[in-house]
Amino acid sequence: MSHGDAPPTGRLVVLSGPSGVGKDTVLQALTSLEPRLRRSVSCTTRPPRPGETDGVSYHFVDDATFRAMIDRDEFLEWAVVHGELKGTPRAAVQEALARGEDVILKIDVQGAAQVRGQQLPGTIFIFLMPPSLEELQERLRRRETEDEASLAVRESDARRELAMAEQYDHRVVNDNVERAAREILGIIARSRRRHEDGDG
Ligand code: 5GP
Repeated sequence: MSHGDAPPTGRLVVLSGPSGVGKDTVLQALTSLEPRLRRSVSCTTRPPRPGETDGVSYHFVDDATFRAMIDRDEFLEWAVVHGELKGTPRAAVQEALARGEDVILKIDVQGAAQVRGQQLPGTIFIFLMPPSLEELQERLRRRETEDEASLAVRESDARRELAMAEQYDHRVVNDNVERAAREILGIIARSRRRHEDGDG
């Protein structure tokens, strides 16, 4: 179907993948290779980690604030991830897309399923895969931010997340950060061309 005279809208890109797969590093590479790609800033009830800045890494909010936003339907999607509330504020994403900017969401598989259910035209679903499950477990254990209990939660969440990979349009193996980032940019560029040709 042709989009006729409709203004160009940006692509919405959903990036999921298990904890420890390297989503943040790949995201950094993506935005430095393609500065026009916008990262959505999520809200979370998780406390900030050292080095995280409010409004940049996340909007850090308390439980009551998050619940009030749910009640006002302000989230494009939200979920309980590793025991904390996390959600994508809808307005900022819609405004960026309307300006023609591509927006990337780093969200878990439950949130991705909610976005999929909304059938927004042209959304691209990408799952970042580890080279192997053994390597993923190794990377998770090397992380120093996690205590034993949250490590166990993340390991079992990681196995559950990996089982959902086939529901995504694209699976990209993070064997090398820059290679993976370039593959993702290629996927976005091809999708944009198809869209501009009037094919979704
Ligand atoms: P972290 O706590 O390490 O920053 O993030 C852990 C995971 O939470 C991310 O890998 C991502 O899958 C998920 N996440 C972050 N923001 C959101 C969000 O807004 N919505 C959902 N559904 N998941 C999120």
